[in-house]
Amino acid sequence: MPEMTMPVSPGGLNGDVDVQSTTVNDAPSSDALHAVADVELMRTGIRFRFRDAGLERLYRDEVRGQARRLNRVTLAITVLVVDSFILPEHKLAPEIFTLSAVLRFAVLTPACLVFVLLDWRGKLGRAYDSALGLMAILPTLIIALIIVRTTSAAALPNIQSSPLIQLVIITSRLDIRHAAIVNLASWLAYSAAIQFCPAVPANFLSSMSLTAAAIALGAFAFAVRVDLRERQVFLLGLQNERRRAQLARQNSVLTTLTHVDALTGLGNRRYFDERLEASWEDACTQRIPLSVVIFDIDHFKKFNDSLGHQAGDACLRVVGRAIAQCVRTAVDTTCRYGGEEFAIILPGAPHAVACTIAARVNASVMACAIAHPAAGPPGCVTVSLGVATIIPGPGNRATALVEAADRCLYAAKRNGRNQLASADLTQQTPAELP
Ligand code: GH3
Ligand code: MG
Ligand code: MG
Repeated sequence: MPEMTMPVSPGGLNGDVDVQSTTVNDAPSSDALHAVADVELMRTGIRFRFRDAGLERLYRDEVRGQARRLNRVTLAITVLVVDSFILPEHKLAPEIFTLSAVLRFAVLTPACLVFVLLDWRGKLGRAYDSALGLMAILPTLIIALIIVRTTSAAALPNIQSSPLIQLVIITSRLDIRHAAIVNLASWLAYSAAIQFCPAVPANFLSSMSLTAAAIALGAFAFAVRVDLRERQVFLLGLQNERRRAQLARQNSVLTTLTHVDALTGLGNRRYFDERLEASWEDACTQRIPLSVVIFDIDHFKKFNDSLGHQAGDACLRVVGRAIAQCVRTAVDTTCRYGGEEFAIILPGAPHAVACTIAARVNASVMACAIAHPAAGPPGCVTVSLGVATIIPGPGNRATALVEAADRCLYAAKRNGRNQLASADLTQQTPAELP
């Protein structure tokens, strides 16, 4: 019974169906992770970090890790925007043109390229968030230096807008801690720079600094929103994953239960029918023989009548186990066909092999030496067996094979029980088959 051995207890032949063992053995860490994810989902209020370090690490590796490509693009756009401010500067503040060109094209752009390259090659590791934070501060620091050296009043609109545009772009990609540091540092650098800039009128200073503070705060709030949402989606994803795994486990248990005979742990009649159909199809395609053995305990009614039903059940279990030693576990299917009748499907077994296996079953049951006080000699439980073999093809049917084995079983009963009778249908033409 190869398919049955997997979902039920070892071998599927040791008597009882072990539903416990059918549950998928998830790694404990995975179960624990799902449990803490559930606790996190129930947490109310703002969740800046997960309480569990493992969950936080997974979130960073998986969710923020997936965003890395997007972060590289965002950083490149930010640097491009910052670099583009050199165009109006050329006309509006020629005194800082050289400094601006050097800082933008010899410092900022190469730094950005190095970061992108290192990240692309996976060299940043755990330093990634800090490196991205540094890259987010760098444009503001460079612009602050340029602002300090600007003397032309005509450059005032540039001074007002350029430093904070980049901040809005890059902040959304930072984690909350780095977003807070970057926004605060950028605002401080900008506010300090305009203090020293001769081009900024003194009465503009406070409103420019306040505007910058408002923009930095807004950018930070946006970063928080993105992070909170990503965390929620991550937790719901984990919950979903766990529910799907649970459903799969339950389905597998149900499938097992619908295929298993509860008393013996062998396949049941439904399983026999399914396996017979599948084996028939396989044998048809491969043009190989298919054999079936059907056997029945002799005088079982008398056994029950003399020893009781409980003893009868125990006897059925022992017989079920005895079959295990006789079949090829990887290919054969063993089932309780009904009552005290059992059936074995032997795919690819020629008639002689099937008869040998049937004889082994007979001997194996005898070897169990289950005392049967109400039967004649040999005084123990015996079985009668019917064996049939066929080469499945378009002209014949699986039912013909089972019917032939059944007829043989009754012939064995008629001939005195505790023996086998067989029918080799492989030489018969479809027209000759019953
Ligand atoms: P034969 O040698 O011709 O097969 O005779 P038999 O007595 O074995 O056959 P019969 O069909 O007359 O009786 C079968 C008995 O099997 C009757 C029924 O009570 C018993 N039986 C069927 N299923 C079970 C079961 O699950 N547990 C027990 N204890 N007995 C069962
Ligand atoms: Mg019987
Ligand atoms: Mg019977």
